Amino acid sequence: MNNEEKMAKIVALKKEILENYKRLNLNDSFRFSCNKDVPCFNACCKDINIFLTPYDILRMKKRLGLSSEEFLSKFTLTPFTKDMKLPVVVLKMGEDPSKKCSFVSEDGCTIYEDRPWPCRMYPLGFASPGEGLENEKEFYFLMDEPDCLGFKENREYTVESWLSDQGLNEYNEMGEFFKEISLHPYFEKNDLSPEKMEMYFTACYNLDKFRRFIFASNFLKYFDVDNETIEKIKEDDIELMKFAFRWLKFSLFGENTMKMKDEAVRERKEGIGKNKKGVDFQDE
Ligand code: SF4
Ligand code: SF4
Repeated sequence: MNNEEKMAKIVALKKEILENYKRLNLNDSFRFSCNKDVPCFNACCKDINIFLTPYDILRMKKRLGLSSEEFLSKFTLTPFTKDMKLPVVVLKMGEDPSKKCSFVSEDGCTIYEDRPWPCRMYPLGFASPGEGLENEKEFYFLMDEPDCLGFKENREYTVESWLSDQGLNEYNEMGEFFKEISLHPYFEKNDLSPEKMEMYFTACYNLDKFRRFIFASNFLKYFDVDNETIEKIKEDDIELMKFAFRWLKFSLFGENTMKMKDEAVRERKEGIGKNKKGVDFQDE
C-alpha cells in the first residue's frame, strides 16, 4: 500500500469513527487486559501505523540514548502526500516479512515505560475538535478489533482509570500543547512555505537540532529570553519543547509569544536582516 492509499484508509476510518462509534466519557467502563497469558500476546506489534507525537519522540530517544536526529533516521518515516498541510512522523516497522515493530520481544515491548501514546491508549481512541468534529465535544471511543483477545479478559477499567494506569496524563498534557500548534486555525486558510515547514518539523520533532538553532545561531542576540529560561532549555528537553511551541506560535502565526530586543526591532524597521522578522539566524 502506498502513502496515498494508507492516508485514504486513515481518513475513511476517522469518518467511520465520527459517524458510528459509541462516544465514551471519563466515567464509562470497559473490560480489557493485555498480558503475557493472552493467546494473541504481541500479535498487534507489527505492520501497524503508529503516528508519533513530539513528546513520544522525546521519551523514546532519551530511553534509547540517541540524539533526535539518530532516532528519526533509524526508527521513523515521514510519509508525505499532496493533501497534507503538515509533516507527520510514523514509527518504522521492521523489514522482516511480518514487519515487526523494532521494539517488540518475546516478553513484550522492550521500551514499555516509554512506549508511544497510541500504544498506551489502545484499546481506547480519542477524537478532538479540529480532527473532523464540528460543534461537538471531544470524546473517547473503544477500538473495534475483533482479533484482539484482550476484550475477552475480565479486568474492568473506566476511561479515567485506564488513562491513569497507562501513564497517559503527562502524554496528554504535552499533547495539548502540541495541538495548539498542529490544529491551529491558521492552517484552515494557509499553507506553510517549505522553509516554515522545515522549521515546524525541527521545532516539533528534532529537538536537538532546534537546541542548536537557539544556541549556535544569533537567535539570543535578537530575542529577549530571560536567564532562567535559557538555563532550563540548555538541559531540559521538556522545557525546550514548550519553548519550541512558543517559538512556532510567534514565527508561524505571528502571535505575541516571544519578545524581540530593541536592536532587532530597529534592524527590522531599517530592513536589515534576512527573514520576515528582520532577524538573521545564520550560525555566527
Ligand atoms: S491483540 Fe490485543 S490482547 Fe493481543 S497483544 Fe495486541 S493488544 Fe494485547
Ligand atoms: S512500541 Fe512497543 S507497544 Fe508499541 S508497537 Fe512497538 S513493541 Fe508494541
